[in-house]
Amino acid sequence: NRSIVLQQRPHGAPDAGTFRLTATPVPAPQGNQVLLRTLFLSLDPYMRGRISDAPSYSAPVEIGAVMVGATVSRVETSRHPDFEVGQLVLGYSGWQDYALSDGAGLNKLGDDVTLASRALGVLGMPGFTAYMGLLDIGQPKAGDTVVVAAASGAVGSLVGQIARIKGARAVGIAGGADKCRYVVDELGFDAGIDHRAPDFAQQLVAACPAGIDVYFENVGGAVFDAVLPLLNTLARIPVCGLIADYNATELPPGPDRLGLLARTILTKRIKMQGFIIFDDYGPHFGKFFAQMSQWLKDGKIKFREDIVDGLENAPQAFNGLLEGKNFGKLVIRVTQD
Ligand code: NDP
Repeated sequence: NRSIVLQQRPHGAPDAGTFRLTATPVPAPQGNQVLLRTLFLSLDPYMRGRISDAPSYSAPVEIGAVMVGATVSRVETSRHPDFEVGQLVLGYSGWQDYALSDGAGLNKLGDDVTLASRALGVLGMPGFTAYMGLLDIGQPKAGDTVVVAAASGAVGSLVGQIARIKGARAVGIAGGADKCRYVVDELGFDAGIDHRAPDFAQQLVAACPAGIDVYFENVGGAVFDAVLPLLNTLARIPVCGLIADYNATELPPGPDRLGLLARTILTKRIKMQGFIIFDDYGPHFGKFFAQMSQWLKDGKIKFREDIVDGLENAPQAFNGLLEGKNFGKLVIRVTQD
């Protein structure tokens, strides 16, 4: 059983010393346990928080412990009355080939393995995040301008498409020409802007002639600086993530923009609200799942997965996620057996 454990907490970006691959015998189920074989492992930005011991909404992974992560697994052996060998389940086995479970927190998936990874993306946690953050906090109305960054990624790609379904204009911000083209040509966003372009801020002004009514915050940093002056009175900002800062080791360069932010919030009566998806919205998952499944069936939502083969490649792929190297929902295919 190969596992990737946390070896050392990184200062800044994770490096070669952060994770270590270990091998131990495959564990044998006891009592009412099942043995799970990992097929797909989800890699998500929140994992950067788990390898840090800075105070957060969730406890850090201990040094020497297996890295946490959502997984799609196949039941290999079962001593549990509710699970049969061969079933596919969504669980939380972490970065390893095999894991034991007593069934708590496992969700059975359909038996089509080719659809199983959707449970980690469009029909899972990232999809749910886009749906609740945009609709409950962002509350887009027809004709509104909705702006989202990391727009080709797991969450952002859905934010823009849901905004369009609700009759809003969707402006996506992404890194590089390919991702910008994709959000417009494939996903149907109204505009796609490259945050690495030297005239990014001017391009954003041009793409938002009526200002910004909803800014779905995924990244923070320089993107937020460009968004701030364009916010309309009564704009809403669901604060979902701040990925531009996850590897930061010091405060951003000055001048301090806190006063400007507070003044903008006050004078424009802006609502800015953070959320942690399952903590705040857990009971709404069924409603989201039914709606997103319907949209997929009707062809109203498209999604893209970035599948990387091999558990051993998870650390490098995870670093890439924090630098924009992924293109779509990042998933490790641990085995194809
Ligand atoms: P993505 O699939 O979008 O991948 C991350 C993307 O972030 C990269 O591809 C890159 O896209 C972008 N990015 C990285 N660094 C920067 C930067 N400095 N400036 C601008 N963009 C950057 O990830 P997810 O969709 O899974 O997550 C998106 C956000 O949502 C994250 O902040 C995450 O933490 C948050 N989140 C929050 C949840 C909650 O409950 N609050 C739940 C789930 C996710 P590009 O190449 O386009 O720049």
